[in-house]
Amino acid sequence: MDHDSFDWMKLILKSSEKVQNTVKRLQSHGARTKVVGTGASGDKTLLADREAEKILVDALSKVSGVRILSEESGEIGQRGAELLAIVDPLDGSSNFERRIPFYCTSIAIVRGRRLADTRAALVRNLVTGDVYYAERGKGATKNGERIATSETSNIREAILGVDLSRTDEGTYASLARLITSAKRQVHFGANALELCFLAEGMIDAFIDVRNKTRIVDFAGGYLIAKEAGAVLSTKSGDKLLTRLEMKERFSFVSSANPQLQKVILDALKQRHP
Ligand SMILES: [Mg+2]
Repeated sequence: MDHDSFDWMKLILKSSEKVQNTVKRLQSHGARTKVVGTGASGDKTLLADREAEKILVDALSKVSGVRILSEESGEIGQRGAELLAIVDPLDGSSNFERRIPFYCTSIAIVRGRRLADTRAALVRNLVTGDVYYAERGKGATKNGERIATSETSNIREAILGVDLSRTDEGTYASLARLITSAKRQVHFGANALELCFLAEGMIDAFIDVRNKTRIVDFAGGYLIAKEAGAVLSTKSGDKLLTRLEMKERFSFVSSANPQLQKVILDALKQRHP
């Protein structure tokens, strides 16, 4: 099969729309909090997580030569497959469970073994239906319109997304200088969608230095943010060389532009008393 000419946009757009309809139905029919097991990532699996995953796995397994890495089931399909689909069927499950309107579905198509080999990505806001899409080297879009990161380079004017969930005290302290120097710190609870907020300039940076990011809720937003102009690195400023495996956990720093990225990396280096 010729993967180069394959219409990924069509396949993942359509299946993510199905996910949106299914999740919406489960939200309003009282099945919101139903737990059906534990996922490959270690978190509990809600009925909505499982149903959303089923839709994406069904659609993606119809394409030959695709292996799937998904939050609930882990790895599906042949190891030697040419393409890897990295999927978080429902990112922000705990928001969904509590009716906080911020959750999404994230799909990344990788041809190769590295994060930098990500070819196409789609993140759909399952509450609003907004669709973020990117192909490597072709820019990023929201509902078909080109998007770009902000030009904010002054930390005092910057809105920073910072994932502080279950942070240990040492990590929390290492962030004090950065957070106190910014205009505002936010975290909404679905990292794939927060990377899209960075991509469209709603927030100016998004960081997770807890060493707890998983590839399933990062890969899709990574390509969209990158194609929109964001700069992404490890917390020490190195290139992200994350392995595309379920057990991998990592930290990252992403900013709207290189100037702001430098300010943030410098602030992280300074030790707080
Ligand atoms: Mg999930």
